[in-house]
Amino acid sequence: MANCLLCNHSLTKKLTISEIIFPGPIREQVVCDDCFQKFNRYSDKDACQGCGRENDGNLCGDCRRWQQQYGWHLSHYPIFHYNQAMREFMQQYKFQGQYHLRAVFQQSLQKVINQMDYDFLVPIPVTNHTMRTRGFNQVTGLIENVQYTELIKHREKQKVAQSKKDRQSRLKTKQPFFLDKDINLRGRKVLLVDDIYTTGRTLYHAAELCYQNGCKRVQSLSLAR
Ligand SMILES: [Zn+2]
Ligand SMILES: [Zn+2]
Repeated sequence: MANCLLCNHSLTKKLTISEIIFPGPIREQVVCDDCFQKFNRYSDKDACQGCGRENDGNLCGDCRRWQQQYGWHLSHYPIFHYNQAMREFMQQYKFQGQYHLRAVFQQSLQKVINQMDYDFLVPIPVTNHTMRTRGFNQVTGLIENVQYTELIKHREKQKVAQSKKDRQSRLKTKQPFFLDKDINLRGRKVLLVDDIYTTGRTLYHAAELCYQNGCKRVQSLSLAR
């Protein structure tokens, strides 16, 4: 019997009514219900059409500024709120490098991704420096159970990690990405994936690159915001 990846308690699987009535492959549980319910999902309704934050359904002030700057805005879908449980998860997964924790949200992401319409699923890359020190890209870890294309690469090593910069300096950074693969994006639809949506700066850089290369539509998804 497997144990919960977060609290290590043993996972005793209770069958749901529908699993009893319609026997079939049972979703493999990697986290216990007590741990999983600490994560708070975004609702589909009443969200900003740009960044997905819960509001009256109109474009929020931040997204209006992106719209002014670029002439378009991203349709971003955050899955979970960046609450205390998510902060602790990210701390362990990303900063303490507990790569086995990538399994915690793979099924949640897969379910959302399967409902979306795209030609290329494109993870946001990490810098070469992060790859050397952390040893993995936390974004590709989250989606390793779906097919994705590592289309975007970091232009150069960044001296200061995104998470250490304040909002102002994050918003000012120059285009850090380039298209790595010789793939024709003309008329295609891209779905960008990142782990956390903070200001949107990173995803807008990536989306701008896709549009400059002829993309018809760019949407994005993050595990948390
Ligand atoms: Zn647990
Ligand atoms: Zn917004």
